[in-house]
Amino acid sequence: MGSAILPQPGIMDIDLYEGGASHVDGIANVLKLSSNENPLGPSEPAMEAFRREAFNLHRYPSTDHAALRAAIGEMHRLDPDRVICGVGSDEIISFLCQAFVGPGDQVIHTEHGFALYRISTLAAGGTPVEVPERERTTDIDAILAGCTDKTRMVFIANPNNPTGTMIGLAEIGYLADNLPDGVLLVLDGAYAEYVEDYDAGRALIEARNNVFMTRTFSKMYGLGGMRVGWGYGPKPIIDVLNRIRGPFNLSNAALAAAEAAVRDTDYVAKCRAENTRCRAWLAEALAEIGVPSDTSTANFILARFSTTDEANACDDYLKSQGILVRRVGGYNLPHCLRITVGDEASCRRVAHAIRQFKERA
Ligand SMILES: *Cc1c(COP(=O)(O)O)cnc(C)c1O
Repeated sequence: MGSAILPQPGIMDIDLYEGGASHVDGIANVLKLSSNENPLGPSEPAMEAFRREAFNLHRYPSTDHAALRAAIGEMHRLDPDRVICGVGSDEIISFLCQAFVGPGDQVIHTEHGFALYRISTLAAGGTPVEVPERERTTDIDAILAGCTDKTRMVFIANPNNPTGTMIGLAEIGYLADNLPDGVLLVLDGAYAEYVEDYDAGRALIEARNNVFMTRTFSKMYGLGGMRVGWGYGPKPIIDVLNRIRGPFNLSNAALAAAEAAVRDTDYVAKCRAENTRCRAWLAEALAEIGVPSDTSTANFILARFSTTDEANACDDYLKSQGILVRRVGGYNLPHCLRITVGDEASCRRVAHAIRQFKERA
């Protein structure tokens, strides 16, 4: 008998990530509102670019992603040399932890922060540190109080998932200016496109050397299945991340679809307007039947129930009606359900079902 084959410390502390459910046994017409996908799908030019790549399947993709980075730079007014593309923003988060976090290092995330921050920190051998939020909103004082001489990185999603709340850029600037030396602030802008007049932290990054942003094509651009995300930050950080990035991490099809998507600004504007309209309707419809939510700035709302039992019973009822939403007990919000803002018909369907649930109870 040889000795046991053991993983690195920390790996076995990682709970397997549970994605949003996508089917219900025995129900055909399932409405999936559990993964914050764009109900309108990707833009037509993105699908066309994807189809064209069928003729290039034997070709290796670009290693430097020059065309996609140029398009991102042009459309978001960023320096393309400081853009890095990954297999979803998940991969960028993972690169950050791999490159800057090791055993003994601490990484701060907030009470209701995105699960990947903890997972990627543990995978890198580091220690995740959870700090409280204030009324389901990022609290920069709690983050600053949570910093120690072991802190290497702070993750904030703004808007945050699953709460949907966000904080202002002035507050984030204050945080960046008061973090200890050597701590990187990572702003996860997965939902930034849903916020009117929000630069996702671009100006903060340009003025500092300790702020980095992650972005994705999975939400507003409707390309979750393609797996494309990107990061933007100080050149020295980008140079480090590029050393651990696999040379062919993105496929031809992913690169082409993303490039077409980022250039289709009309589609983004249309989806943003539609989301804003439907989100307001849904939040109000639920509030009227006694299910409040915080003002959301993203493409989902966090519906609050009186108790964990009521939230779970409502989730079970919705499932029986073929409607999938997201339980968020794993985010310290067991009395809530996260509901993606679908198209108008979907919003009506889920609101109707929740009303029926409330009337039966
Ligand atoms: C959905 C989401 C992402 C995006 O992940 P991808 O890997 O780009 O699909 C990142 N951060 C948060 C907070 C999210 O909700």
